[in-house]
Amino acid sequence: MLKPMDSSTGGGLRAAGARPATAAAPPASPATSPRPVTPRAPARSMYLLHHLLEPNAGYRRLAAWLEARPRLRRLFTATEKGVKQGIFGCRMCGQCTLPSTGYACPMTCPKQLRNGPCGGVGADGCCEVYPEMRCVWLEAFERAESQGRRGDLLRLQLPVDHRLWGQSSWIRYWQGRDEDLWTDPARSGMGQ
Ligand code: SF4
Ligand code: SF4
Repeated sequence: MLKPMDSSTGGGLRAAGARPATAAAPPASPATSPRPVTPRAPARSMYLLHHLLEPNAGYRRLAAWLEARPRLRRLFTATEKGVKQGIFGCRMCGQCTLPSTGYACPMTCPKQLRNGPCGGVGADGCCEVYPEMRCVWLEAFERAESQGRRGDLLRLQLPVDHRLWGQSSWIRYWQGRDEDLWTDPARSGMGQ
């Protein structure tokens, strides 16, 4: 059986080099490798909630207002972390894939694979690294399929930018900075 692996296995690097002092470092040692998390909220309600959080002028103003106030931004980010950690096991990678992965967090995969499962998924759907747990990508597939969103999983997720760990992905989303996180299957000819 494989041992838990670090983030270099699956996440890749969009931009290597020094991480700003403000960025939180992802866990590096095997002892702190993530464990797959089964989301604690139904997929349907998450897709519905997503519509309420879609960027608009109000959210953009709120995001800009928060960014100009570091203490409030930290408070907002801590709130986001608390909410998303409780539901998805969020690790605050700062570039959220949830809308394209059935609202299952790929950063809870021990190998942090963002473009589908590894080759070690058990016949019963268990994780190769933590056999007592379900593969998070199986969760992603089932949740997306249950809502007619299987095509989302065909999107190619771009490599993780490790400088963004610890940042609020909601603020980034409202500011339009997450628009290039994944490819568009329609444009790439993959479709549903
Ligand atoms: S921000 Fe990153 S770690 Fe958090 S739920 Fe989204 S993908 Fe997972
Ligand atoms: S079985 Fe699934 S959750 Fe486990 S390491 Fe492989 S892809 Fe990740």
